[in-house]
Parts: sequence; C-alpha cells; structure tokens
Amino acid sequence: MNVDDPRIREAYLYKKLSNNRVQCTTCHVNCSLEEGESGICKTRKNIEGKLHTLIYGDISSYSLHPIEKMPAYQYYPGSVALTFGSWGCNINCDWCQNWDITMHKPPEKYTNASLMTPEKVVENANFNPSINGVCFSFNEPTLSFEFALDVFQMLPNDFYKYFVSNGYMTVEVLDLLISSGLNGMTVSFKGTENVTDALLNIQQRKIWDNLQIAAQRGIHLELAYLVIPTINDDEEFIRDFSQKVIHRLSANIPVHFLRYFPSYLTKIEKTSVSNLQKTYTIAKNEGLEYVYLGNIPGHPFQNTYCPDCSELLLKRDQFSLTFSQLTSDNRCPSCNFPVQIFPYRPQYINK
Ligand code: SF4
Repeated sequence: MNVDDPRIREAYLYKKLSNNRVQCTTCHVNCSLEEGESGICKTRKNIEGKLHTLIYGDISSYSLHPIEKMPAYQYYPGSVALTFGSWGCNINCDWCQNWDITMHKPPEKYTNASLMTPEKVVENANFNPSINGVCFSFNEPTLSFEFALDVFQMLPNDFYKYFVSNGYMTVEVLDLLISSGLNGMTVSFKGTENVTDALLNIQQRKIWDNLQIAAQRGIHLELAYLVIPTINDDEEFIRDFSQKVIHRLSANIPVHFLRYFPSYLTKIEKTSVSNLQKTYTIAKNEGLEYVYLGNIPGHPFQNTYCPDCSELLLKRDQFSLTFSQLTSDNRCPSCNFPVQIFPYRPQYINK
C-alpha cells in the first residue's frame, strides 16, 4: 500500500488498543482491527497501528441530480444537487441496489478524474449556477465523512449539504457532520428492527437514536423503505415502521416506500405495484401524513397531497417537479393546512 496515495489519510475517529490493534468509531459496527486488517466496509485499514481511511476524495461518480432523486420530496423541491459517491458500505445487504460500488473495494490506483479535493468541489459548485447544494449518496457516505466534513466546512452557506445514508454512523460522526453544516438526510431502511437486526447483524435502535438527535438539531429528514416481497413487506411490519416514525419522530416526516428490483444476490421477483399501493394505504391509515411510492415512474403517489383535505399540492413526473399550488408560506390553497416543506423555492419549478 502506497502511503503517499492522497486518498489514504489517518482516520478522525478511532481508539488505540493494545498490541497495535485499533477500534474504528466511525460507525456502530465498531470494527476492531489488527495491524494490516481492513474493516468490513473495506474503506478503513489499520496501517502500523493507526486507522486510515482509504477513500479521502476518491469518487466513484459525481453528477448533477434533482433532489427528488435522493429521494427528498420536501426539501428545496425542484432544486439540483451536485451528487458524489465513493466506494463501500458498512452494512451488507444481499439485495443491494447499488452493489457495483458498495461491494467494491476502493480501486488500487486513482486517476485525476476519480480524485476530488474539497477545493475542486467548491469550484464545481460555484461554476454552475443551476447547482443548489451538494449531496453525498450512492454508497454509504458515512465512510467518506472526513472528506464530507472538509467539503461542508469549505462550501458557502448558500449551498445545502445533504446525505443519503443508512444512518448507522456513531453519534460523534453525526455531531461533527451537523456542526460542519449538514442540513438534511434521507435515511434508508431495509425493514423493521426484527428483520434488519436478524438479517444484517445491526442494532436498528441506534439509527432511530441518530434520527432523533438529528431532528432535535433541526436537520431535515426523509425516510426511505425498500419494500422487498417476503422479506419486509408484511402488513404488520409496515404498521410497526409507521408507528415508530410517528412516535420516535413525527407524523409529518416524509416516508418513501421504494419498489425493489432483483439485484446482487437476491432473486426474489420485483415488488408489484399493487403490493406498494397496499403499503401506501397501510402507512396512511396508521397516520403518516406524507407517504410516497418510489421507482414507479408516473405513479400518482409520487405527488404531494394535502394531509388534511387531499388537495394535490406538488405534482412530479419522474424526478421533475411539474406543478405546484402551495401558497407562498407553504400552505394548502384549499384548506390553509401548513405543509412541511423546507423551504419553498417556486423559481425551481419546471413548468
Ligand atoms: S466505518 Fe468501516 S471500519 Fe469503521 S466501524 Fe464501520 S464498517 Fe468498521
């Protein structure tokens, strides 16, 4: 391993243990690593008794995306985010929809095209006036957190800073991200606690704890739930998940139920539209105010409806916002219900 490689830097958060072992405290997996060992995410390695990240500024892809693609439907609707991904994940799901980058070790060699610096990110963001924010997505962004911190601290305040994450970072990481300017997160769930803790060897309650901390600190939150037939689509699971959102966070947190397609190691048939529609109805009946269905282009449940009178408020076509009739103070024009949108920017709407 070439320690002159600019992607390899000493990690911010770890503990030194005896015999040159280290314990990573970046995420709740808390890998304890002997010299020469890498964590299960493949992005952190014990090199001579110090934990190093192997992916500082190492980008698997970056491109412009509508914020709706994250998915985030109630955060700067219609805006555009410069979106980055890197390599690896700290939770290994057999059904991963992005497995070509999440299951991938960082490449042995980097190229100028794959190496970003925080300065380059700021330059790119400033260069294109259509960019409204920066988003870390595609793989688990917690693993790029040293790089994300530097980007967030350097990026002017008029750009939003967003994460699409599994939410399994430690509280220290979450705190540093928020202190450095993180504004919003879409957190993806793979099922309810009993499913994920058994199948993925995690403790989901730690994700809920993080979400509560983030909500208390004013971070915009949206939740995504990949609906996988026979794994996590049981009516009881959807009810349980909806109740957790309401009781641990709020009924007005947007929740996206996403259609699963066979991917990576899982060959289960794709989720049917009728299954997703049933899921939508269950979640609404439980009391969630903003429920969406994702990965079904053109479906009416991609739109935002007033939780009080069901008036159509924001209409979407795929990831484009095509119509809005919210008032200038984010209320329903029909019944005056205050709608949870942060903030409303009508100039972004493509009419
Ligand atoms: S970030 Fe990687 S190395 Fe660190 S605890 Fe999580 S999985 Fe392990």
